[in-house]
Amino acid sequence: MKICPTCGTKLDEDDIFCPECGARVDKKLKTPFEKQRMKKISNFLKGFIIFFLFILIVFILLAFVGTMIARR
Ligand SMILES: [Zn+2]
Repeated sequence: MKICPTCGTKLDEDDIFCPECGARVDKKLKTPFEKQRMKKISNFLKGFIIFFLFILIVFILLAFVGTMIARR
């Protein structure tokens, strides 16, 4: 549900102008969606970085354990 940022009237998703105050709402309301998309991308990147670090730690541990076993 869209809401007019000027007067708070509820609008249809495809409304370009607010029927109550006549304010243009299409461009202003795209910003939160862009932010949501950015959040999704940053969350995805965070998940990817955590996954990558986890794999890296597992590899380091495996290498460490491997050298420990080789020394014995
Ligand atoms: Zn309005």
